[in-house]
Amino acid sequence: MNILVINAGSSSLKYQLYDMKDESVLASGRVERIGMDSSIVTHEPEGRPEVRIVDEILEHTSAIKRVLDMLTHKEHGVLKSVEEIDAVGHRVVHGGEAFQESAVVTPETKLEIRKLFDLAPLHNPAHMMGITAVEAVLPGVTQVVVFDTAFHQTMPQQSYLYPVPMVLYKRHAIRRYGFHGTSHAYVSERAAEVLGRPLEELKLVSCHIGNGASATAILNGKSFDTSMGMTPLEGLMMGTRSGDLDPAIVPYTMNKEDLTLSEVNSMLNKHSGLLAISGLSSDMREITEAMFDGDKNAKLAFEMYAYRVKKYIGAYAAAMNGIDVLLFTAGVGENSVVLREHVCEGLTFLGIKLDKELNAQRSKEARVISTPDSSVAVMVVPTNEELLIARDTFKLARQRGAEQA
Ligand code: ADP
Repeated sequence: MNILVINAGSSSLKYQLYDMKDESVLASGRVERIGMDSSIVTHEPEGRPEVRIVDEILEHTSAIKRVLDMLTHKEHGVLKSVEEIDAVGHRVVHGGEAFQESAVVTPETKLEIRKLFDLAPLHNPAHMMGITAVEAVLPGVTQVVVFDTAFHQTMPQQSYLYPVPMVLYKRHAIRRYGFHGTSHAYVSERAAEVLGRPLEELKLVSCHIGNGASATAILNGKSFDTSMGMTPLEGLMMGTRSGDLDPAIVPYTMNKEDLTLSEVNSMLNKHSGLLAISGLSSDMREITEAMFDGDKNAKLAFEMYAYRVKKYIGAYAAAMNGIDVLLFTAGVGENSVVLREHVCEGLTFLGIKLDKELNAQRSKEARVISTPDSSVAVMVVPTNEELLIARDTFKLARQRGAEQA
């Protein structure tokens, strides 16, 4: 069965085609600058050179048509016809409380996703454009939606409620949802697999740290708490996002700097985090290089970032009354030797002992980087959200096929 995974943004669309026989990637690519002049299609058939095309692509339906053209292209394609696509899986950022797991797209599913537009105004409408585009171009194909929030729906009330008037939750669904759920789910399963231990018996802290960053406490295989909240602004310090701060800063800054609410919102989302403290970049590679070259602000940004990761690890070890596995994933977590070392350095009280040599080794494989006598297995686990989306899509499409037969 071939599964097409789509991550539709407002002006971009990423795709990956899987053959679920062996979970291999047949092709992947992206369409960028949809609706702007000179859109770019980048297509990579597995094992063959990348193809790049520049053209006008005005909306998502044309973008999907382009993707299908590439996938079935005489020279660059990997399929004979679009009929070889058995199902399509979409990444959807916000599933609110309506979705505890992935779901087949039906009129009811679409209605629920629309109801969540307010909670994720930058993401859910774009995903919906992706879904309707596929409906138009591949009518009748099974579509599945996989939510970033779904994995965190197991959080208990004490984790997900804010201590504000209850009416805000009841009227407006103001609560913590958490994000990166697909990644946290994938890496925790993979970690248990590599360790050869049942996930249900482990206390795990998963640190997904890239441009966006979140930590999750995973108890008995379920999300128990996570650092992102109602929106992906809460929690850890990020590339351009502040993470946790005193909410009183918002009205105070508006008043002192004569800013509007939307300006402060943009400041906290786009002009804070690593970028604000370093005054240099939101990119951890550049920050680290500048730090090694003696830049004091870059060093401060790096240390604040690491410190906040460490605080969350401590908090989650306390929340679960212990920790068996600490894992790092995403751009920074998978690649920054120095960040992992810095975070783990002050965690010996938890029994965490990093093996510096293992930590410094470069590999794309999931692996343990702690010493044999560390009471916590510290791991690097490359994330693969697309594969998890493909797996869920495969499972639900097969079930649906069986029901219809
Ligand atoms: P996104 O949240 O956009 O998916 P990624 O998970 O791709 O982000 O992470 C991007 C971040 O990872 C950037 O800050 C980048 O600098 C960082 N990164 C990638 N490689 C390295 C590296 N070798 N050392 C330090 N940081 C790295």
